[in-house]
Amino acid sequence: MSQAEGGKEETFECCHVVINSQEKVSDVYTQLEKLGEGKFGKVYRLQEKGSGKVRAGKYFRTRTAKEKQAARAEVELMNLLHHPRLVQCLAAFQGPAELVMVMEYVAGGELFERIVDDDFEHTEPSSAQYLGQILEGLQFMHGQAIVHLDLKPENIVCVSPGSHWLKIIDFGLARKLAPDIPVKVLQGTPEFMAPEVVAFEPVDLSTDMWSVGVICYILLSGESPFQGDNDMETLSNITAARWDFEEETFSEISQQAKDFISQLLQKDPRRRLSSAGALLHPWLQRPQASSAKMLSKERIKQFLTRRKWQKTGKALLALNRLTLLSQSPGRKAPEAQEEEDLSCNPEEEQASGCLPRRGSSFSALLPGQEEEEGGSSAAAGEAERGVSVVVPP
Ligand code: ADP
Ligand code: MG
Repeated sequence: MSQAEGGKEETFECCHVVINSQEKVSDVYTQLEKLGEGKFGKVYRLQEKGSGKVRAGKYFRTRTAKEKQAARAEVELMNLLHHPRLVQCLAAFQGPAELVMVMEYVAGGELFERIVDDDFEHTEPSSAQYLGQILEGLQFMHGQAIVHLDLKPENIVCVSPGSHWLKIIDFGLARKLAPDIPVKVLQGTPEFMAPEVVAFEPVDLSTDMWSVGVICYILLSGESPFQGDNDMETLSNITAARWDFEEETFSEISQQAKDFISQLLQKDPRRRLSSAGALLHPWLQRPQASSAKMLSKERIKQFLTRRKWQKTGKALLALNRLTLLSQSPGRKAPEAQEEEDLSCNPEEEQASGCLPRRGSSFSALLPGQEEEEGGSSAAAGEAERGVSVVVPP
């Protein structure tokens, strides 16, 4: 891959966004098909009426003050993140019950989905190129003390279907860290969570570096290093930093690549490579011609299938829960429940075996709940009980 892939330089468009409350998004854009769905709302493809340009619109529900604040925070953070490896926010519209964030449209879909395409080369050097791009985006974020906190394959996308250019998307959990103000989070996707998140200890820029290690491990082997039979097992594997290079899957992988992963999957955050340090690692700096063998796409396909089933299973679980809620007159209707989405509920997760039984060290929380030191006592109470997990949509 060259800087000018296909003979065409990448174009980079960015701007400082001021939230527009005067116009409606529908005055300026035509809404096209749905691209994705998340805990906040939906993402649609949009076409700008004047220019015909295609964009992506993230529609946040903002019925409560907290929802509104979360959506605005994402726009504000993205105003600090003008870099070609990070998806750009180009406009935002505040309506009575929703905020629409207009972004550049990233047409290529998830990196892992592209890798398994027949015409996509999957080797160690190509993987190192992807990691290099992810790290460049992260280095820019980390340079401004912004931590992403939700790095996972779904949030790494290709600029276009045939392109090897990547972008990091989804700054929904990202935070700007301030010196001496510890931030603890109660959100994330179990498989990619760092030990300090699981232990409800303060996060740092190095928290993202752990997730980079997990992504790299999966990219090269198709295996997820901490995945257990259920979330509890996964979280316990992370807490123990229990992982290794499985002989069969890593037999063809270079020592340099393994060293790169080992320097990221360090339980002690201070021992992990920084984004700048990782970019200087020999595996990225000096790709070995001997390591250009084709890597197995089969296990990556299996990984993608499992992730889809996991998400479907959890969505069904949540649907079940909403049905139960709507049938029980003593409880608030789902529409009226602040903060409730397709998240997991401790009782149901326990029933399904996804999470441990009450009294053990993990519990489930609703989305949006998090604790910054000195924050709400409700979150502190959760913290005492242990780590809480918000199930991804
Ligand atoms: P969530 O926090 O729910 O994961 P995301 O920002 O990741 O929200 O958006 C959900 C999905 O919408 C993504 O996984 C992706 O499929 C799609 N999407 C988001 N942003 C874009 C974009 N700029 N271009 C194209 N598709 C996008
Ligand atoms: Mg996402």
